Amino acid sequence: TNDQLSQWDRDTFFHPSTHLAQHARGESANRIIKTASGVYIEDRDGNRMLDAFAGLYCVNVGYGRPEIAEAIADQAKELAYYHSYVGHGTEASITLAKMVVDRAPANMSKVYFGLGGSDANETNIKLVWYINNVLGRPQKKKIISRWRGYHGSGLITGSLTGLGLFHAKFDLPLAGILHTEAPYYYRRPDLNMSEADFTAHCASELEAMIEREGADTIAAFIAEPLLGTGGIVPPPAGYWAAIQPILKKHDIILIADEVVTGFGRLGTMFGSAHYDIEPDIITIAKGLTSAYAPLSGSIISDKLWKVLEEGTDTYGPFGHGWTYSAHPIGAAAGVANLKLIDSLGLVDNAGITGAYLNTTMEAALADHPHVGEVRGEGMLCSVELVRDRDTRTFFDAGDKFAARVVAAMLKRGVIARAMPQGDIIGFAPPLCLTKSEADTIVSATVDALNEVSA
Ligand code: PLP
Repeated sequence: TNDQLSQWDRDTFFHPSTHLAQHARGESANRIIKTASGVYIEDRDGNRMLDAFAGLYCVNVGYGRPEIAEAIADQAKELAYYHSYVGHGTEASITLAKMVVDRAPANMSKVYFGLGGSDANETNIKLVWYINNVLGRPQKKKIISRWRGYHGSGLITGSLTGLGLFHAKFDLPLAGILHTEAPYYYRRPDLNMSEADFTAHCASELEAMIEREGADTIAAFIAEPLLGTGGIVPPPAGYWAAIQPILKKHDIILIADEVVTGFGRLGTMFGSAHYDIEPDIITIAKGLTSAYAPLSGSIISDKLWKVLEEGTDTYGPFGHGWTYSAHPIGAAAGVANLKLIDSLGLVDNAGITGAYLNTTMEAALADHPHVGEVRGEGMLCSVELVRDRDTRTFFDAGDKFAARVVAAMLKRGVIARAMPQGDIIGFAPPLCLTKSEADTIVSATVDALNEVSA
């Protein structure tokens, strides 16, 4: 029964990112999700909800796709597991590697498979360190990421993440991980700058940090094409065009963390194409399998691959691997998923219906006194809530304004996400969203906001 499951849950289940004391007291959500189809999920009480966040922005093709379920079942029956160490592969993992590299930017040549976005970024940092060792510059080791960036929850990746919650009480960030200005124009009215000047400011902050630390100590810069968990914030115009020459000038590897933006979310197969980014390494996860099974990857450029390959002749194997690297079931899910993304035209739909969601949301909320900014790109949208539009003042943290709006949306059958820092409501629906489903999301947002503002 639901009561029994809830009791077991409280007795035994340690949930991530959860206020444990509130959960134990029964004050937080204890929804037991049972099934899902398309953009809708259903709980054990029979409540049907439009999932406007695609789980954790990962179910790109939508729920309940039999093609992926069958590929997983077939793979489990034929070969549930074999490892990928010392040159082993499976039909599914090799096929998926080929499909990923075929879809990646032209300079990309190989993919290393992991389990989730966090471990893929751990792999990336070790790759960069190994490569700089091979190149005879082991001291070129520090990594720059950005405040408000999100790159995972591990020790290195939690350090790369630029959100206080992921550092506090863990003694993070680790030494050698630095954070530079977030390209978050709306939140820097104090600088009193035009958007173009703010872009130049972000670039000069980065360069000043590199010069202060010494370029010969900085190995890599890691960033999402568009800030995701930090608030769904598209960069100001010209940002990437200003950042990349600085990295090139100082011979700093660029890691594009495309865990959210990879596989169509911005209306292009990769977010790098959308912003003209030329990364050396790309992190992928989420949309790689649409979360039907855990799988991630690090795609690396031909140039870095050559160094790595030659390095192993001198230093022996790249000493890094997970039992589940390139797990055949994840790989089979990935192959079926990428085929569906193509055959259903989901990349194009993300661009078209995503633009519709963004413009409709913006039009509906343009005059709302508590809406500071509506922003987004492709099938990503966010609404930043403020106490006062003119001064952009926050609500008090204790108000939990965004969380209350999200709860009011849920009553209306729509799931959105209160982003972890600030009063920001995030939307990242499956890429198969229709315009009428977008309308449902927008009207639930408006009604919920009016209810909570009243
Ligand atoms: N990188 C980005 C940009 C992410 O958004 C996430 C997760 O949301 C991660 C990395 C970490 O991925 P995972 O939660 O699969 O470890």
